[in-house]
Amino acid sequence: MNIGKVTLVGAGPGDPELLTIKALKAIQRATVLFVDDLVSDEIVAFASKQTRVVHVGKRGGCKSTPQAFIEKLMLMAASEGENVVRLKGGDPFIFGRGGEEVEHLRAAGMQVEVINGITAGLAAVTSLGVPLTHRQHAHGVVFVTGHAKPGDAGTDWRALAATARSARLTLVIYMGISGAERIQQELLSGLPAATPVAVIQNATLGTQRHITTTLGALADAIQAGAMASPSIIVVGDVIGGVAVAAAHPHVVRAA
Ligand code: SAH
Repeated sequence: MNIGKVTLVGAGPGDPELLTIKALKAIQRATVLFVDDLVSDEIVAFASKQTRVVHVGKRGGCKSTPQAFIEKLMLMAASEGENVVRLKGGDPFIFGRGGEEVEHLRAAGMQVEVINGITAGLAAVTSLGVPLTHRQHAHGVVFVTGHAKPGDAGTDWRALAATARSARLTLVIYMGISGAERIQQELLSGLPAATPVAVIQNATLGTQRHITTTLGALADAIQAGAMASPSIIVVGDVIGGVAVAAAHPHVVRAA
């Protein structure tokens, strides 16, 4: 028996124009909207005036709403026949616990639809005018979290460094600011200190800023530049092209 439906929608990295048309339509159809922290107000403003908007993030100084409680609220609304949309930053299935939400909703008998969004790591690098892969510099890309679940050993940075070097991979690190010093130390076990790195904060928003540095100087550069969350840390030779891209007027910078 189906007791309702929830749509998980990727809100993209911040710039409202980077929403997909499908995401926009879902937001406009919603009767209840559950909104994550990293979703900008301009995107929430696409909802109809009658839509009930529930903020479930840390904004306003509150601790973020526990995951189980958010899921319960969504289940209740969906079973009452509401058109429930869960709006998550970036892509719902890249970190941000979208996978867990879907599992729990499906286990409760809900139908779940997921609409992709542009993930922050992709948008952050593009906003600097360089690619994530490049035939000369990077044969692939790894999206990795710098922040593991409590009790979990987390990412094996040493293994990742060795692989990134031998397989020529770009590393795109989410939630890496608070652990940057440790990440830097461990990555240096397998990658040269001169490896180019960029840190991009508030990608695609009017408040976007970035620094470029090297792996050897990463933690110091983050401190000197006062780079804070939400930021993406990108490690790899593709970042060497940032200075070249910035010197050319045809590069389109986001917002
Ligand atoms: N699902 C999201 C990621 C959620 S995890 C996505 O696909 O983008 C939250 C992390 O995403 C932040 O700690 C930060 O590392 C990154 N992030 C989200 N929005 C960002 C932005 N506009 N600029 C830089 N990093 C961002």
